[in-house]
Amino acid sequence: MKTLSGKEVVEAIETRLAGGVGWLKEQGVNPSLAVILVGDNPESHSYVKGKLVRAEKLGIHSQDHFLPAETTQEELEALVARLNEDPATHGILCQLPLPKGLDEPRITRLINPAKDVDCFHPYNFGLLAQGEHHLAPCTPAGIMEMLKHYQVPVSGKNVVVIGRSNIVGRPMSLLLSHKGVDATVTVCHSRTPDIAEHTRRADVLIVGIGRPEWIKADMVAEKAVVIDVGVNRVDDPSRPRGYRLAGDVAFDEVSARAAAITPVPGGVGPLTVIMLMRNTLLAAADQNSLKFPEHMDI
Ligand code: NAP
Repeated sequence: MKTLSGKEVVEAIETRLAGGVGWLKEQGVNPSLAVILVGDNPESHSYVKGKLVRAEKLGIHSQDHFLPAETTQEELEALVARLNEDPATHGILCQLPLPKGLDEPRITRLINPAKDVDCFHPYNFGLLAQGEHHLAPCTPAGIMEMLKHYQVPVSGKNVVVIGRSNIVGRPMSLLLSHKGVDATVTVCHSRTPDIAEHTRRADVLIVGIGRPEWIKADMVAEKAVVIDVGVNRVDDPSRPRGYRLAGDVAFDEVSARAAAITPVPGGVGPLTVIMLMRNTLLAAADQNSLKFPEHMDI
């Protein structure tokens, strides 16, 4: 059994992206990402910190807009409008969830689609559905990179995706079913009877449901490739923080059966952030009518 390391894939992508940042700067473009965070949710703060650190490491200029939980809808909309208009800001990310009282879908729709580096805007999602996308949602795009890096074949294979959220499962299934990728995709969700019947037929199984260690060995085919998107906190008094992180897949038992599997943490997680950086570079190039040279493989 092979453990698919997100870190290894990130390192490979990072080298390419560093080249892309340098190339953009040579063209007079200083790629810049604006991150909006409202309130003091500690998990959101930790995610945002990870994004800002990664941007800085790559030489991408970042602006943090940390707003108090009492921020009004009007104030938030005014900030988004200002960033939409600012030619020096190429990517805008509004960390979700927003505090209660703020209209999340409305904010998502207000972000200029050209700067929508999370790819949550319905315009970008529509392009994704048509296979015409320029930007792709970060987590599924990162999984595609991982499959490519480890040369996991998907063309003509049975790929089962569990979860149908707009952030993970749905865009994942779209990316896999596009012409040229050519997987045969089954999407399962909480209303799917007998999920194991589907998962046992999967050459590649991708799980994003938010249920700790829910996929057991007897639900997985011999030699399947298993991608675990879940990040769950499980109480563990033996740990200093009182919990440990677990994926949606029971790693120990499934790894004894699978050909390859991603760990949690250290699997899909790191890829999400690096794909955000990639989207920022793509957005910066596009807004300046630039095209990265083919050989850079951005
Ligand atoms: P979500 O919006 O809550 O969606 C969960 C999906 O899983 C829904 O489609 C739901 O079905 C389905 N589901 C829930 N329980 C199920 C069950 N017992 N059997 C079958 N399907 C079930 O969650 P999300 O945002 O997609 O996130 C999913 C997991 O991925 C979470 O653990 C999250 O922390 C993690 N995540 C990780 C990253 C990363 O970078 N590694 C990024 C995003 C999310 P219904 O539609 O029928 O309700």
